Amino acid sequence: MQTEIANFNFYNPTRILFGKNQIEAMDAYIPQNAKVLITYGGGSAKRFGTIDRVVEALGNRKWDTFSGIEANPHFETLMQAVEKVKEENFDFIIAVGGGSVIDGTKFIAAASVFPGDPIDIFGQGIGAGKPIEEALPFGTVLTLPATSSEMNSGAVITFEELKAKVSFSSEKTFPKFSVLEPEITYTLPDRQLRNGLTDTFIHLLEDYLTYPVDARLQDAWSEASLREIIKLAPELNADNYDYSVRANYMWICTNGLNNILRPGVPTDWATHELGHEITAFNNTDHARTLTPVMLATMKVRKEEKYEKLIQYAENVWGITEANDEEKITLAIDKTAEFFQSIEMPTTLEEIGVKEADIDYLVTQLEKHDDTALGENNQQTLDISRKIYETALN
Ligand code: NAP
Ligand code: FE
Repeated sequence: MQTEIANFNFYNPTRILFGKNQIEAMDAYIPQNAKVLITYGGGSAKRFGTIDRVVEALGNRKWDTFSGIEANPHFETLMQAVEKVKEENFDFIIAVGGGSVIDGTKFIAAASVFPGDPIDIFGQGIGAGKPIEEALPFGTVLTLPATSSEMNSGAVITFEELKAKVSFSSEKTFPKFSVLEPEITYTLPDRQLRNGLTDTFIHLLEDYLTYPVDARLQDAWSEASLREIIKLAPELNADNYDYSVRANYMWICTNGLNNILRPGVPTDWATHELGHEITAFNNTDHARTLTPVMLATMKVRKEEKYEKLIQYAENVWGITEANDEEKITLAIDKTAEFFQSIEMPTTLEEIGVKEADIDYLVTQLEKHDDTALGENNQQTLDISRKIYETALN
């Protein structure tokens, strides 16, 4: 098994404009003659004045908007935006929203200049999985810290009829810049704040909770981020407008999956694949699918992750006075208590998944080629089934 940091080739070209009044600062990074399409979701960005600020920052540039990108963005909705971009020749996009709008915009940016049918951008049984050679440039104004989509090149798109949630990633779909204004998070309701914090917690675990590699910075950075999330959680609520709490929340989330923690180490990501099937099945919020699955993964794949689970117990939860088995059990219990403290589900029953639904979820995993998941590609469909079963109640 690998014990040294593996060779890696790390690339992340996204500029971050962080702090107060940063929307104004994006002017320097959009060509003066650009024709800009502003994309947003169900209306929060408009309602809370962010769209107006973006328009003002664009000055004399030509612009229009495309709204209605839903949570877990749908392929069909995004294709309407692709048509608009092509017909009206937009050459720059600004996404204003959370992971859904930003992911959707990555697809719009790539599909608008894709030769052939954009469905082929997707693999996993949906399309031909062709590489993206080109994409329109785009920037983002982040309104919901959670996914790191503002500083990575991945996107997850929903095909409603097929009940599928499928991802793609390309070097061409990094944002040119992302505006991170902690004050924009003041309008988030508790549910979204908790979802964001939890999604990031799970992103960190997906990259960290694998098998040990002598990667000291990656480990220490992940452990510190996990500890800081646990500390931040009680202070992060819709009534607390503490700038410092929001600034830390935002930057921790962005660093959870901007891939700085991934070079040269094994990564898991099976929890996300199993979670995506649940969202595609019953539209549960992304983060709320992950907590029950992650807890069950720690139990079902304990042997595979044994050493790292002990390290997690010691360095994240401070559990040192116990034998190895007890440390792991205590760490899993502490993790469950933490999720409960921020009102996240710890069982699938809480998010409407019943025993009788598991067959369907496993069939969908098979359909999407998710038959050898995890850091060792050893999570077979049988193990995924066991994880769903263990997560039930
Ligand atoms: P989201 O789906 O983008 O947004 C959730 C809700 O929050 C929306 O209803 C939105 O309302 C509202 N909202 C956003 N900003 C707000 C604000 N400042 N004030 C009040 N309400 C606000 O949530 P998300 O968790 O960021 O994104 C989830 C998606 O990202 C999923 O599809 C997931 O699979 C994907 N994801 C992507 C990556 C990646 O690396 N690319 C990683 C993990 C997950 P409006 O619609 O009205 O604006
Ligand atoms: Fe996620």
